[in-house]
Amino acid sequence: MSKVVIITGASRGIGAATAKLLGCSEYKVCVNYLTDKNAADSVCGSINENGGVAFAHKADVSDEAQVLDMFEYVRNQWGEVTHLVNNVGVLFTKTELINVSAERFTKVLNTNVLSAFLCSKAFVKQNVAGGAIVNVSSIASRTGAPFEYVDYATSKGAMDSFTKGLSLELAAKHIRVNSVRPGFIQTDIHADGGEPGRVERLSSQIPMQRGGTADEVAQAIAWLLSPQSSYVTGSFIDLAGGK
Ligand code: NAP
Repeated sequence: MSKVVIITGASRGIGAATAKLLGCSEYKVCVNYLTDKNAADSVCGSINENGGVAFAHKADVSDEAQVLDMFEYVRNQWGEVTHLVNNVGVLFTKTELINVSAERFTKVLNTNVLSAFLCSKAFVKQNVAGGAIVNVSSIASRTGAPFEYVDYATSKGAMDSFTKGLSLELAAKHIRVNSVRPGFIQTDIHADGGEPGRVERLSSQIPMQRGGTADEVAQAIAWLLSPQSSYVTGSFIDLAGGK
């Protein structure tokens, strides 16, 4: 059976780096995106130019109907989805909790957590033994991101519980579920929080004295999806330069 992977939120950042990496090995890659078609097409273009197989698929993965449509579309093109990366994650302007509206909190939880629940459910329904899921969490799940992104940190705490619980539900079915927890990684997400230079500002507080790259996170995701990690499930890899 060929390897078919859906990567949510893969038009840029960690998702895009993961798509390019997996596209260089034996995976057929569905590059999910929400708004930036050009960026998603460019990720696919780079994979296809290098001899891989990829297409972009627009879907809001916090919407169940769109998730089900995406899985059906991919299945019709390539067969069962064998691997899933629940990568999508958003944050909004950094601020303390008192300024976070219920609407914002709900949006963050829906985009970061409900999406993983919906995609994983669609994945599990196919019952592909030997499949694997990687959830992209954050070290914010343990730091709590006070005065900045408590809503975001809460969503990542939920992702960690989700990873643990789902891994145990699926272990005997030979479907592995693991997680990466990046620290400060050089992507555009920090501009969304209102501080494009966030990683540079905080570098001196990181034991390794630098932020990480999306490619470094992608390597860990690829390993957790691969047969090289065949006895690993319910596990977390922190990529945070020692933080
Ligand atoms: P990013 O550069 O901001 O990219 C976010 C991606 O998510 C984009 O491709 C965006 O697509 C997509 N997206 C947003 N809402 C969506 C939705 N509802 N449905 C489908 N796609 C959606 O993010 P990143 O920094 O690479 O982060 C990736 C993951 O790593 C996230 O879960 C994040 O929380 C986690 N993480 C990142 C860092 C870091 O320092 N960067 C640290 C810890 C954890 P469009 O652009 O097409 O709208």
